[in-house]
Amino acid sequence: MFDHPSYDHHEGVHFFEDADSGLRAIIAVHSTARGPAAGGCRMWQYETGEQALRDALRLSQGMSFKNAMAGLPLGGGKAVIWGNSKTDKSPKLFEAFGRAIESLNGAYYTAEDVGVDTDDMAVVATQTKYVAGLDTGEAASGDPSPVTALGVYRGIKSCAKRVFGTDDLSGRTIAVQGVGSVGGYLCDHLAKEGARLYVCDIDEDELAKVCARTGATRIKTDEIYDVDAEIFSPNALGAVINRATLPRLKAKIIAGGANNQLASPDMDSALREAGILYAPDYVINGGGIINVAAEISGAYSRNWVIGKLNVLIDTLGEVLDDALQNNLPTNRVAERIARERISAAKNG
Ligand code: NAD
Repeated sequence: MFDHPSYDHHEGVHFFEDADSGLRAIIAVHSTARGPAAGGCRMWQYETGEQALRDALRLSQGMSFKNAMAGLPLGGGKAVIWGNSKTDKSPKLFEAFGRAIESLNGAYYTAEDVGVDTDDMAVVATQTKYVAGLDTGEAASGDPSPVTALGVYRGIKSCAKRVFGTDDLSGRTIAVQGVGSVGGYLCDHLAKEGARLYVCDIDEDELAKVCARTGATRIKTDEIYDVDAEIFSPNALGAVINRATLPRLKAKIIAGGANNQLASPDMDSALREAGILYAPDYVINGGGIINVAAEISGAYSRNWVIGKLNVLIDTLGEVLDDALQNNLPTNRVAERIARERISAAKNG
């Protein structure tokens, strides 16, 4: 474990197996320096246990950075359940997962991620109180996507100010990849301000709905990188910024809600060299975890959420300015600040 390429001094990596329900899960706690580790639970049909482990290690580290950049009193953790979310789910499985979380005594809080929904979390909540993202209950925060989208919208404006000298998006051409929960709400904000939108999605129904509401132009999914747009906003998959897509992009700004947008760490330098301002994903998409953090605190407050979102957008601005002034990749600046914040909490 200590030699694993994705191991980054994680505080704990816990393996759980429950023969009765078929649960096989890994909970990785990267850091609790700032508070209990928080991050979603992903259910995925990994080909090997090694792939599941790598995902848990990388995603939990990412949550430490995201929570630190959002100024939350939370560390970073992530759970992965190895299985097919369409065929392997059962109440027993999520009960066993809930018991696994409970056994960590609050070191890790879970919530939904890919393949896991609010119904599953409701089952988890029968076994542990260390769960968020619930639909019901006193502090339930519900769907985090509107807050994530609001943060992405404001982050795009922040980037525009630095690249175009104004944050006014009216008339700006923006290509939006993925118009699901986050992308859909984002398009509403952008259209309201008069941006000219080009959108794609593999879900034709969602695409039709968003085009009808916002007047966006629909683009084939494989052609979204070729659109002559000033801003590219990924809101679907990870690893979309890579050696193959970068030369096709004409945008001066990449800013979107998707997690893990860069296919490899060296893409941050490639973006800088290409003269593209990149909003680090785990900074600009932190609105959702802020919403979840409000639930973890036990008393959901919309004012608290918006206050934290305001600070997050200021932090994004500091990252962008530092990177531009010192000719550094934005991701590198963000990671340095995140690590400093985690170390300060550890030593303070
Ligand atoms: P979602 O499933 O509601 O939306 C994703 C959309 O992308 C879907 O409409 C899907 O059809 C589309 N899509 C899938 N493959 C595509 C492709 N090849 N080309 C174009 N579109 C494609 O998910 P979401 O909650 O909106 O999350 C979107 C991204 O943002 C994910 O990467 C997620 O991890 C990240 N994120 C979400 C939140 C949140 O609050 N929901 C918070 C932080 C980060």
